[in-house]
Amino acid sequence: MTDIYGLTFEKLGAVLESIGEKPSRAGLIFPAVYNEHTGFDALPFREETLARLRENFTFGRLKCLDTAVSGTADKYLWELSDGCTVESVLMKHEFGYNVCVSTQVGCNMGCKFCVSGRLRRRRDLTAAEMTEQVLGIGELSGCRIDGISIMGIGEPMENLANVLDFIGIMTHPKGPAFGIKHITLSTCGVVPGIYELADSENAVNLAISLHAPNDGLRGSIMPIARKYPLPEVMKAARYYSEKLNRRVTLEYVMLDGVNDSDEYAVQLAELIGDMNAYVNIIRYNSAPESEFRCSPHERIMGFYDVLKKRGVGVTMRRSLGDSINAACGQLSASADGRDGGRVGASDSVCNAV
Ligand code: SAH
Repeated sequence: MTDIYGLTFEKLGAVLESIGEKPSRAGLIFPAVYNEHTGFDALPFREETLARLRENFTFGRLKCLDTAVSGTADKYLWELSDGCTVESVLMKHEFGYNVCVSTQVGCNMGCKFCVSGRLRRRRDLTAAEMTEQVLGIGELSGCRIDGISIMGIGEPMENLANVLDFIGIMTHPKGPAFGIKHITLSTCGVVPGIYELADSENAVNLAISLHAPNDGLRGSIMPIARKYPLPEVMKAARYYSEKLNRRVTLEYVMLDGVNDSDEYAVQLAELIGDMNAYVNIIRYNSAPESEFRCSPHERIMGFYDVLKKRGVGVTMRRSLGDSINAACGQLSASADGRDGGRVGASDSVCNAV
């Protein structure tokens, strides 16, 4: 049995062929599954075909263990079939609803300020498990989802094959049909993944977690910097923006006394130069056990002003969901559902783009 929610349109065609059905039947199955929500029953196929479909495909759903609701963001805790748990967040902006999706159980990137990495990576999520986070939130909330942020737990570039399938499913015109520009993927700077995404058919908006303007500082808070130094990351970012004629987002989390000086803002402006990119300043969502604190408001504004004066595009990410611990970098995963993942007990926070 194959979980239909993990199959791209093309892969569904291939599975249909392998069970002796015409691949073109995917053209009716996709809308029935994603838009009409009728499953197989209403499809105009012979009983024999319908029986074969029922024998070969399942419609998976993640088990929702808990939710935490606030005015601006709702957090969902999911149990996967092997007992692992992950979280996702429904972010409620004035301009629409956005789902922040997790891509791995745990994370190996080891960014010092991030709670999601406290559990090391147990496994990658399947494309079906990512699709089902979006479908599950749509169903449980009753909200029409307008956009997807691939910014939950995990490093998407470390699970890129499944993430690309997930994007392919979400954007297919006969399926959920999200616009490619309504999906944003955030990476800590895994350079080969940036090129692969740029050259794929699924080149969504790219955000790069920069958080420091030089490799010395970056390496001290983000181990990935030692593998992919900033010049390589910026070269890949430039390739992305030029190939797709799209602005790349550079995320910069404000860590008090660490990366928030005017001097670092100047370095950041110089690093960006004439690149088609803008800086998204993120308030740090501090956890009690974190060694980091968010920079004071005046310092954030000072940093912002230096960038502005130097002609850099800057936005400030509005923080959503801190009251329920559902903000950026603080979503948690657990390997057995017993700890870490409990909504309310964890200190998850998810900022909105
Ligand atoms: N692994 C990917 C996506 C997940 S994190 C990445 O690193 O980009 C999504 C964003 O939240 C990243 O920019 C991350 O650095 C940031 N982040 C992590 N912890 C945070 C925290 N406590 N407060 C605010 N942002 C945080």
